[in-house]
Amino acid sequence: MSLRSYIQDRPMPLVWAWKLTEKVLLLMRPLFERVGMERSSRIVKLPEELIKGALFNCQDCAQCVLHYSGMTCPMNCPKNLRNGPCGGVRLNGNCEVKPEMECVWVAAVRRAAKTPYAQEIYRLNPPVDWRLKGQASWVTFALGRDQVTTGSDTKMRDATESLKRNGQGGQEVSR
Ligand code: SF4
Repeated sequence: MSLRSYIQDRPMPLVWAWKLTEKVLLLMRPLFERVGMERSSRIVKLPEELIKGALFNCQDCAQCVLHYSGMTCPMNCPKNLRNGPCGGVRLNGNCEVKPEMECVWVAAVRRAAKTPYAQEIYRLNPPVDWRLKGQASWVTFALGRDQVTTGSDTKMRDATESLKRNGQGGQEVSR
């Protein structure tokens, strides 16, 4: 087991770190608004990449859903699936595309149960807005540009609500 997997399989310290980061980022929101998303991202990106790259193998999608997925980055899925696994998960729980790798969502479900966000694994996340790729997710979160508003204390929201909030319509989803 890699050191990264070892840390992610014990996600509570990561959750505490996120809660602290979240508070700091929200305090910084007026500054980010003044400086602008792109310039703020250029400044924040390096520390974010160093930390989230090392801990989560972050792929820079800029719309972070880590705490909805058991502190497991869904963009490590070769198909970039953000709403659960595909139908190709092997019997041993590994990926059909990369047989040597555990399915991101198998790991996510296991880890989510160890966090306070276990229920959020059932959220329906909107598709990635690729126009944001490369921005700092800490900035897009603070500015509410991440589509999903990943704040851990916000109430659960489904994709339809996110689309409506962003003025993109959306039909009601029956559950
Ligand atoms: S910002 Fe996107 S790519 Fe990076 S850890 Fe979060 S979900 Fe994964």
